[in-house]
Amino acid sequence: MKIYIAGHRGMVGGAILRALQAQGQHELVTRTSAELDLTDQAAVRAFFQTERPDQVILAAAKVGGIHANNSYPAQFIYENLMIECNVIHQAYAAGVTKLLQLGSSCIYPKEAPQPMAEDALLTGVLEATNEPYAIAKIAGIKLCESYNRQYGTDYRSVMPTNLYGPGDNFHPENSHVLPALIRRFHQAAQEGAEEVVVWGSGKPMREFLHVDDMAAASLFVAGLDRATYEAETQPMLSHINVGSGTDVTIRELAETVARVTGFTGHLTFDATKPDGTMRKLMDVSRLTRLGWRATIPLEQGIAGTYRWYLTQDPAGL
Ligand code: GDP
Repeated sequence: MKIYIAGHRGMVGGAILRALQAQGQHELVTRTSAELDLTDQAAVRAFFQTERPDQVILAAAKVGGIHANNSYPAQFIYENLMIECNVIHQAYAAGVTKLLQLGSSCIYPKEAPQPMAEDALLTGVLEATNEPYAIAKIAGIKLCESYNRQYGTDYRSVMPTNLYGPGDNFHPENSHVLPALIRRFHQAAQEGAEEVVVWGSGKPMREFLHVDDMAAASLFVAGLDRATYEAETQPMLSHINVGSGTDVTIRELAETVARVTGFTGHLTFDATKPDGTMRKLMDVSRLTRLGWRATIPLEQGIAGTYRWYLTQDPAGL
């Protein structure tokens, strides 16, 4: 099979590419954003008409943390909608019947009951800071469902929890909590500092999934036979949550990062920084019923990510 992976330079697309390369069973097609601008309709059309892949994995998106979402809302909604419309429609126009799209847990309402099940979609108000991004991702799910209903395609969506792993963004202010803590604890351990400051109260709970688990789950969902997928989903509620199913407090997370990086000082909590949502846990029972579970324990995953971090030039992260 010829598989096009859109977004292979991203953290998740890269992990999916590695997993498919390891399988060695398929012809894999990739393009960098310099080679193919996915917001350019004519370019995407020409690409699909020429390459004619059998299957598409759509892992390309404009993503970022709260600061980026707040600063560039127009780019977040425009670029993500354009990428989805172009890739999904031109895939359909080129006769691609199988596509897997990746989204995010931010599609769910701010006050969704925990753990968040797939049917919480469109039941309430979204978190304001990333609403433009979330709306684009919800539109992506609805595009797939609409093409399936009207054209009989088999386009699926998976919605991951917080992902981490090699290729993550380690920016000191703009990154998510786990890479931020890896960077800060590493630096403190190197300098022999006595304390590390963790934002907020340490009480919020978050779920984390290693990106290699995400890649495995994505290929698992893409590989399910159609009858099995459709028996577990509904035509207008077709997406599947992907998570580890367990969450930890930010304090527990910080203690784990301290162990992994060899930091032996103490933690202090900076209450002037926001806690954000107190809990964000995915209900992964759909995926569990289908037969997939995460396999990488958090501490082991953090240790591997830390080893990768040490191979990188900090200036380039
Ligand atoms: P969220 O899951 O969308 O809230 O995003 P984050 O990953 O940025 O933050 C998760 C939690 O970790 C929040 O309660 C933060 O206050 C807390 N946290 C603790 N230290 C840090 C840090 O250094 N950076 C970030 N981004 N969050 C931190």
